[in-house]
Formats: sequence, structure tokens, C-alpha cells
Amino acid sequence: MSISENLSEIKKSLPTQVTLVAVSKTKPVSAILEAYNSGQRIFGENKIQEMVSKFEDLPKDIEWHMIGHIQTNKVKFMAPFVALIHGVDSFKLLQEIDKQAQKNNRIIPCLLQVHIATEETKFGLDETELFDILDSAEFKNIKNCTIKGLMGMASFTDDETQVTSEFQSLKKIFDAISKLPVTDNFSPEILSMGMSGDYKLAIASGSNMVRIGSSIFGERTYF
Ligand SMILES: *Cc1c(COP(=O)(O)O)cnc(C)c1O
Repeated sequence: MSISENLSEIKKSLPTQVTLVAVSKTKPVSAILEAYNSGQRIFGENKIQEMVSKFEDLPKDIEWHMIGHIQTNKVKFMAPFVALIHGVDSFKLLQEIDKQAQKNNRIIPCLLQVHIATEETKFGLDETELFDILDSAEFKNIKNCTIKGLMGMASFTDDETQVTSEFQSLKKIFDAISKLPVTDNFSPEILSMGMSGDYKLAIASGSNMVRIGSSIFGERTYF
């Protein structure tokens, strides 16, 4: 099937409240254009330099989402245009995004990444670290970022019970932060969870943003 056929199949399967981020990492500009031409406007990348070069080559009405792990010293390259940063996993990183957003005279929407998988390798905050950030006095000094919600990745396993329980644990945390007062820099609306292999389980557990790559663009080959 073609990219546009894959896209329309997936879109048909998504409830209306769920936003689709088409994960185009490692894929060429031509593949992104094919998705763009069939109406997709939100794309996700996991490497800042790759996202910057695609931003430069592609139409300017694309919303670029950074979904990967972020090195603080590279934030400045995406600060002029990034639409949503999913992987904020430390206060230090949030401060750097805030600083670069301010230089660009922007407010950058961010998600805090929570560690829900049993695997050691996935990045993210635990629940205590998350609340420590939100409750801290320093958080009030963040003026050029808005925390729009949470992002998480389940374990890479066929065990659907485990994946579902990990997604549910994130939904529970999301519900808890949703009870906190909305402020200038905190307005939780987005729960980003679910990839090609597990997005249906994620949606059943309350996700409203899915990040889908290989089911749209085909398997990735890394060199
Ligand atoms: C690569 C990636 C995805 C998409 O993965 P697929 O299995 O190809 O859909 C989603 N989220 C993150 C954080 C990723 O790095």
C-alpha cells in the first residue's frame, strides 16, 4: 500500500478527538510530501538536525513535533519553529527551552515525558519527579513554555495486558495533573501515547495523540 493509502486507513480508525502525528524520522522529504499532499500536516521527528533540514525543505504550514530525546545544546536549532516538544524529561531541559523560546519571542508548547515502561532504556520522569517540577517555585519562572500534557512509551512487548496497564498508569497521572489549576505555563490537554504497534490500546486507555511511523511510511532502515 502507498503512504496515502496507509494514512487514510489509519485516519479512519482514529476517533475524532485523537490527533495523528505522522512519524517521519529517517524518511526522505519525498515521503513526507506524499503524506502532506494527502492532507497530513503534523509530522514527528526524533533528531533535531534532521527536523531542521526537513523544515527548511518542506512547506511552512507543517507542524513539526520533536518526539525524541533532546540534548540541551541543540534546543536553539529548533526553537524558531518547533510546534510541540514531547520529550521534556528534566527541569534543566525545560529551562533551556524556555530561554530559547524567549530569544525567539515565542511560547513553545511542551509535554513532560513520564517513564511508564519496565525497560530501563526509555527516558522520562517518574511520578514524584513530575510533581516536584510542577510544584516547584522555579516552575513559576517558566514564562515561554506551556506544559500542554504528558507523553509516554509503553514497553516493547507483545503482552497486551502489560502494555495496557502501563498506558493506564500514565492516564491516571494525566488525570491527577488535570486537577491542578490551569496557569499561564500549565494547561494540560494532551496525552501523547501510542505508536504503530500499540496505538489502539493507547486510545482505549485515554490517549488523544498518537505517534505513528512505520504503519504509514513502512519499516525504517538504519544505516
Ligand atoms: C519512532 C517513534 C515512534 C513511531 O514508531 P512506529 O513504531 O514506527 O510507529 C513513536 N514515538 C517515538 C517517541 C518514536 O521514537
